[in-house]
Amino acid sequence: MRSGKPQDDEGLLTASGEARAGTLFRLVASFMAVVMLTFVLVEGWRIWRDYRHAFVNAENSVSNLARATAQHAEDAIRQVDAITAALAERVEGDGILNLDRKRLHRLLHQQAQIMPQLHGLFIYDAQGYWLVTDKTSVPPNANNADRDYFEYHRTHASRDVHIGPVIKSRSTSELIIPISRRLDAPDGSFAGVLLGTIKVDWFLQYYGDFKIDQRGALVLAMRDGTILVRRPFSDKIIGTSLAKSDIFLKHLPHADQGVAEATAVVDGTQRIYGFQALPTYPLVAEAGLSRESIVEPWRHDMIKSVLVLVLLLIGLSAFGWIVLRQLRERIAIERALLQAHQTLKSLALTDALTGLGNRRRLDGVLDSELGRARRQDYSLAVVMLDLDYFKRYNDHYGHPAGDRCLQRVGEVLQAALKRPGDLAVRYGGEEFTLLLPDTDVDGATTLVQEILDNLRRLGMEHLASPLGIVSISAGIAMGYPARQALTAATLMAAADGALYAAKEQGRDRLHVTCDVADGVG
Ligand code: GH3
Ligand code: MG
Ligand code: MG
Repeated sequence: MRSGKPQDDEGLLTASGEARAGTLFRLVASFMAVVMLTFVLVEGWRIWRDYRHAFVNAENSVSNLARATAQHAEDAIRQVDAITAALAERVEGDGILNLDRKRLHRLLHQQAQIMPQLHGLFIYDAQGYWLVTDKTSVPPNANNADRDYFEYHRTHASRDVHIGPVIKSRSTSELIIPISRRLDAPDGSFAGVLLGTIKVDWFLQYYGDFKIDQRGALVLAMRDGTILVRRPFSDKIIGTSLAKSDIFLKHLPHADQGVAEATAVVDGTQRIYGFQALPTYPLVAEAGLSRESIVEPWRHDMIKSVLVLVLLLIGLSAFGWIVLRQLRERIAIERALLQAHQTLKSLALTDALTGLGNRRRLDGVLDSELGRARRQDYSLAVVMLDLDYFKRYNDHYGHPAGDRCLQRVGEVLQAALKRPGDLAVRYGGEEFTLLLPDTDVDGATTLVQEILDNLRRLGMEHLASPLGIVSISAGIAMGYPARQALTAATLMAAADGALYAAKEQGRDRLHVTCDVADGVG
């Protein structure tokens, strides 16, 4: 099937142009979307990474803090442990009843001066009465038999140092941690208690030097959970138990040290805790930073980043919107130009009076049809038609009537064409041309005869013509461009020759040329 008219090619061009413009538009829009998505993803990843870093840093801090406080407690207690061990050895060696109290007091006083953590050193007899202390004065009849540690040693034969919960000193009213040992008589019976006490305040001073946030916490507790020291300090909290806290319930049974996030039982604050059990003594140190103090700086930074990102995205969107709008305008302009170009082109190829193609149109199509017929070896018929006595028609009916007549004839010609490849043009004046590809002489003769008949049947009055009605004469030329040396000019000349012959023979008829090459009918 031969494809048809030039309009079709232009239509295709326009469609592909629009498709290209649409693709470009989508490409730019997708690119903008990808750029913005990339910004969001990169920034999201950075924010997430900072969040993780904040927690990793906090975990390192709390575990270092826990280790430092544990070490500090361990050292403080070890010193008291060592001195009470040495004193116990001496007291037991001398015999509790034979103590040189003055010398011993001097010794205790001296030791107490050396150790800043020490609140006091005390020796009690089997009934709990104060025998010797580091203090200059001893309250008369003072008795500590009611203290827990005293009861503990009285009922336990263990010689190990015993660390008790915080108590209030009877001599100074300070909060103190009792570190005590049992004294034995030579027969192994209970002979009394040797006590060294550490000031809670001494720990508090040490904890106060650490830079932790307002809601952070440092805790020294016994292995059963009883709190000995805590920053922030409150004497109501001292002695309360952490036994129900996550760290004591879930973590300490499995590990002596670690990091865990938990809600504090004391104040309900969510913290990251580092915990560390003391290596020698049944105590645990905990350091906690509030979740809020970890998240807050990150959140602050995140809000700033998100704001910047939002501004960037707004900027990019605005930029993208402008670019896309300009692109759309450009596409619209190009489309309008293309349409205008096509309109002009088709106007240039159209006869204004009849709406048929004009001579320029014929020139373009004839050449391409010749080439096609040559390649595909089919025949090509050209028909020249000329209105009979048309000068007289004009003279008789006037020029405007002549124009209307030409229009009617144009309609008759166009109506007779049936194939998409057939073409009717107004060649000029009152002359028309038909181009009939792949049509032989018989086909062309039939078609032209039909045109003559239709015109006759129309019976347009032409009183100035001997025939009485408007009639037309036609010359047909047909050839095979693949087999003959045919050009547009020879074909047209042959058709013109045939037309001349038809006129000669009396008009209102057709004539077929015999020899196309000569153009002679
Ligand atoms: P013949 O039968 O031998 O063809 O005689 P004819 O009078 O048709 O031929 P001729 O070439 O002498 O005259 C052609 C006339 O066609 C001349 C002109 O008045 C008329 N004509 C050409 N173009 C137009 C047009 O666009 N409009 C009108 N109304 N008349 C036209
Ligand atoms: Mg003429
Ligand atoms: Mg004429």
